[in-house]
Amino acid sequence: MNPDIHAQTAAFLDREHGLLIGGEWAASRSGEILKSINPATEQPLARFAGAGPEDIDLAVAAAREACDHGPWPAMSPSRRSELLWKLAEQVEAHGEILTQLEILDNGMPLNPAAAMAVPIAAKMLRYYAGWPSKIAGSTNPSDPRPGADRAALTYTLKEPVGVVGQITPWNYPLGMAAMKLGPALATGCTVVLKPDEHTPLSALYLGELIRKTGFPPGVVNIVPGTGEAAGASLVEHPDVDKVAFTGSTETGRSIVRAATGNLKRVSLELGGKSPFIVFPDADLDRTIAMAAHLGFFLQGQNCQCPSRVFIHEEIFEPAVERMAEAARAMKIGPGWDPETRQGPLISAAQLERVESYVASGLSDGAELIVGGARPEGPGYFFEPTLFRGTKSEMRIMREEIFGPVICVQSFSDTSLDAVAAFANDTVYGLVASVWTRGLGTAHELAQRIKAGVVGINHHGSGDVFAPFGGYKESGWGREFGAESLDGYLETKTVVVRYD
Ligand code: NAD
Repeated sequence: MNPDIHAQTAAFLDREHGLLIGGEWAASRSGEILKSINPATEQPLARFAGAGPEDIDLAVAAAREACDHGPWPAMSPSRRSELLWKLAEQVEAHGEILTQLEILDNGMPLNPAAAMAVPIAAKMLRYYAGWPSKIAGSTNPSDPRPGADRAALTYTLKEPVGVVGQITPWNYPLGMAAMKLGPALATGCTVVLKPDEHTPLSALYLGELIRKTGFPPGVVNIVPGTGEAAGASLVEHPDVDKVAFTGSTETGRSIVRAATGNLKRVSLELGGKSPFIVFPDADLDRTIAMAAHLGFFLQGQNCQCPSRVFIHEEIFEPAVERMAEAARAMKIGPGWDPETRQGPLISAAQLERVESYVASGLSDGAELIVGGARPEGPGYFFEPTLFRGTKSEMRIMREEIFGPVICVQSFSDTSLDAVAAFANDTVYGLVASVWTRGLGTAHELAQRIKAGVVGINHHGSGDVFAPFGGYKESGWGREFGAESLDGYLETKTVVVRYD
């Protein structure tokens, strides 16, 4: 079945894409052209300029100019809100094209992932559109300063941190771009956005919408390129004030090291190895349906993915059988087929990585109950895979696989200490969930589990209104909600003496 591509999507794919720098599309200085591949067919999809160090210099200079001079720093909060709101409207108006680009570039299935991409991106932009008029400092009490007989008037100003380098991964490209741009633009920063080199298309399309919406030139610059050529140059750049990164923990570490030159601010949204804990009194139908749905969402290429499912021994056998049934029933295919529930992985390299984890699970003695192989034919497809009999020391239980592989393990000791111990037995701390009707157990575990989000009969982030981010090696800082703005603001204290 071939995708029924919108004429505008086809025209966009045919074009050779430039870099958005200072409000204009430009070729890369080195002339480098990269190809995006359709992971469902392994065929080239589109050609785009790959940014290198010289392009990053130009993009940062454009962002600096727009940050320090011109209409952006002078713009009223109401006008900034209006621009963000209009961008959300543009995203919705071009929703069909953007959805098709996500399916073709990333491989995500229309149902449900790609169908959510545009509404989520628009919702985030609208949420942040509400903020510019609400960012405020405070007045602070003060004792009289030395030598003065009256207290100084003391207040704080919230100012944009400046030029922000934003680096995003390939797994949810449009949503990632929106969640990064929203808080940066709401706070008055300017941006150099580097989307992942596997999936640049929706961000490039968004670049065109940003131009149409009327953001001043240089406020948003979009420079796809490889991590080594474009990403590293952006992180090391002395005129970048902050880097906001989403990606692997390993790259996050290298970003922290590279940011030391000018001690730029760094926020990190990194990997996860989320526990999903099922007590014997849980609503089994709903719980197991959610474990399978979320564990295989985006082919498991999802930082929140419940990849460690712990099920109480009393219900273990029927629960595992239901998860296996759900995994077997998932239709594998290209994302544009509405029946598909498992699209392709992003690349041949990711497919190999997942295969090597499955091999390591088998050699470590885990029992493969479903999947474990790639189906015949082209495309980077891999079967939804379930292991049981896993042990905490196995690599498949410790490392983030970022593929459709779930480890299911039974437990018997329901004491809070025992459950918190296995939930926290990981270097990650992004998301966790507890499935039970016991309110006391659930709330106490929510306090004991070290994760940025703990769900009770729910798994995954809350709404965009609530903070999201990681404990431990899952990151620094929070996205979403009011807290996401903190990373884009400096606080200045002003002290006024009357004498
Ligand atoms: P990755 O770290 O390889 O790449 C992410 C981005 O970083 C890409 O744009 C890449 O080009 C760039 N990059 C690579 N090396 C770089 C360098 N040295 N300097 C600067 N930039 C560099 O990650 P990935 O494999 O593409 O993405 C998957 C990872 O992202 C997973 O670990 C996943 O958990 C994580 N992730 C986290 C969240 C979250 O919100 N916590 C969300 C989605 C994905």
